[in-house]
Amino acid sequence: MLREELIFVGTCDIAGHVRGKGFPASELPSRRKKGIGWTHSNLMQTAFGPIYDTPFGTGGDLMIVPDPSAELRVDFADGSAPEHFFLGNIENTDGSPWECCPREFLRRAVHALKEASGLELIASFEHEFVYTGNEERPGDAYSLGAFRRQGVFGESLVAALRAGGIEPDSFLPEYGPRQFEVTVKPEPALKAADQAVITREMARAAAFRLGHRAIFSPMPVADGVGNGVHIHFSLRDASGAPQTYDPAGPLGLSQAATQFAAGVLAHLPAIAAITAPSPVSYLRLTPNRWAPTAIDIVKQDRGAALRVCPVFAASKKKDIAKAFNLEFRVCDASASPYLALGALIFAGADGIARKLVLPEPEGAAQPLPRSLSQALDGMAKSEAVASWFGPTFLEAYLRHKRSELAHVAGLEPPELCARYAEIY
Ligand code: GLU
Ligand code: MG
Repeated sequence: MLREELIFVGTCDIAGHVRGKGFPASELPSRRKKGIGWTHSNLMQTAFGPIYDTPFGTGGDLMIVPDPSAELRVDFADGSAPEHFFLGNIENTDGSPWECCPREFLRRAVHALKEASGLELIASFEHEFVYTGNEERPGDAYSLGAFRRQGVFGESLVAALRAGGIEPDSFLPEYGPRQFEVTVKPEPALKAADQAVITREMARAAAFRLGHRAIFSPMPVADGVGNGVHIHFSLRDASGAPQTYDPAGPLGLSQAATQFAAGVLAHLPAIAAITAPSPVSYLRLTPNRWAPTAIDIVKQDRGAALRVCPVFAASKKKDIAKAFNLEFRVCDASASPYLALGALIFAGADGIARKLVLPEPEGAAQPLPRSLSQALDGMAKSEAVASWFGPTFLEAYLRHKRSELAHVAGLEPPELCARYAEIY
């Protein structure tokens, strides 16, 4: 068949979807600068597609400009069109960053952390999802049988990640029926978020080519097992030396890491609306699912909002410090990785700037927001979040999410989960 290669340039938006436009690959040289045309109200496209509400109207022009460091070209070698896309920055027509660009939000957060502490953060997103190509069998949690019966999907996903310049770390059958998990090596914040977007897309791309789907919805089935996105992170200084570990500190955390974690906990009532941004996110954040329900930090506990992770097979302080990391578990794949990681970093940077301390371990931890609506109220009244977003982006975010909530108001959990399983 006659074919000409196409390239797509996109952003991962408020809904956590990658949206943009395509062009012939031969046009890339000119598209590197002018990108593709976009408009302000594109930001208001909800998870379901339609724009239910927008402060921007129909006017205005923007561009999504491809970032050369976020190019992916993977040929699955099955005759299908190669996956060739760039993640990009949303810019005004004069080339300045648009204030509501998700990647720019993360860049601002990285800058805030540097200003507050001189430190940078490295992160890795751990993704859980349901692969529909595996049948559901009782007893299959973590089983070799489930691992085998997914066929070549896992190998195809891992190969696609590697071909895309991402270093895979693990691929495993998870606890839930047909549920799998993929993890990759840590990278500096912006790259880690790009890789999170790409990881989701490669799982979808591999599944698509096998006639199936990878479903990342936080709760594909009501009362089922949740799909979490766990953000592992650690701090390092300008020389690259790890700065998260101090055996004498609380929970083994350095002073900077303690303050960072305290900032995250302090802002969780507001940032949950960004990291767990769909109504079904709050069906996942319920007891006995290895998902968090409270605003807490605990050593090696999978039910905590912040888990202090174990270090395996290391006894020297230097080796422990290198591997030591925290895991933020109040996140799922309905969130844009740029916004989720940006919010986490802004919150942590504020903790360092204000020298916050961790809550008393004996005290009862505050509950996490119980619904998206409660989380959005927390976000709306946070002065800190307002300063990170700026007035335009904040209003857009709140209107976007509230219009999504209004759209699904009245749906009972089974139907709600079914709707979100269709789109994530
Ligand atoms: N599925 C759990 C979640 O929703 C996490 C399970 C695990 O710790 O691997 O976060
Ligand atoms: Mg897991």
